[in-house]
Amino acid sequence: MTATRIDGKALAAKVRAQVADDVRTYGKPVCLATILVGDDPASHVYVGSKHKASREAGIESRDHRFSVDTPESVVLDLLAELNADDDVDGILVQLPLPEHMDEAKVLRTVDPAKDVDGFHPLNAGLLFLGEPFLVPATPCGIMVMLSEYGIELKGKEAVVIGRSEIVGKPMSMLLLAEHATVTICHSRTTDLAAHTRRADVLVSAVGRPRFVTPEMVKSGATVIDVGVNRTEAGLVGDVDPAVFDVAGLMTPVPGGVGPMTIAMLLRNTLTASQHRRSKVAFPGY
Ligand code: NAP
Repeated sequence: MTATRIDGKALAAKVRAQVADDVRTYGKPVCLATILVGDDPASHVYVGSKHKASREAGIESRDHRFSVDTPESVVLDLLAELNADDDVDGILVQLPLPEHMDEAKVLRTVDPAKDVDGFHPLNAGLLFLGEPFLVPATPCGIMVMLSEYGIELKGKEAVVIGRSEIVGKPMSMLLLAEHATVTICHSRTTDLAAHTRRADVLVSAVGRPRFVTPEMVKSGATVIDVGVNRTEAGLVGDVDPAVFDVAGLMTPVPGGVGPMTIAMLLRNTLTASQHRRSKVAFPGY
């Protein structure tokens, strides 16, 4: 068997075109502000792609970049300014931040109504309560993929490898909301393969090249590879490409989850704008 490739690139293009249409129909300016601290080349590429995608969707963007030794107070002051600026709809702090910064403190300073990454505790809490508002873009994009490819989740076994705030935990909550039976695995899980082999839907968000091997996957399963690993052989995922011979559907790396993440960020920015300008209180307040 060779798995069907889930074409994240094509699907992302469709979502981005839809967001561009919705921005036009909305008729008000929409603005995303990004903050990047340091000189991590991958982060600079990611932020550049986010600005390009924003422009293409008709979303204005503001690019704030700082050197690695910038004091945390400078970033906190800028966040206070952006929070108060009525023209700014979405704020994104590119991670990782340099070690001298308290990442949790910085992320909690973002106005939850402009928190297009969905990392603020209020947005994480709403997701946990089953009332999602701004949801982290990567798991959100995966849910769109699963839906577009007609993957049934109700009553199915979903296994997520990884429990980060960015991917693993929100992914698990979204799958649970769709009535999957969810198992969350991590570095202390014993006999990982015993869990993964049960999965109808397997999501790997570990960050280790070719970590998921064919013996770990049930025949016909849907396999979502979130991993982005830079190796001498280029960009590879967490999942060994040999898994294509076992799975029913699978995302490639590159061209799978990555493009969807940017598309969902644009969607979140428009959602944040529409919600804030409707003057409806932040959900739950
Ligand atoms: P992270 O914060 O480093 O989390 C990695 C998770 O993997 C942790 O929960 C860790 O467990 C678990 N893990 C590590 N070794 C393991 C092992 N041997 N067995 C089972 N679990 C293990 O990473 P992340 O931010 O979630 O990102 C994961 C990957 O996705 C990275 O490659 C990242 O670059 C990629 N990513 C891609 C996108 C995209 O748009 N394509 C977006 C975000 C992230 P513990 O909690 O026990 O340490």
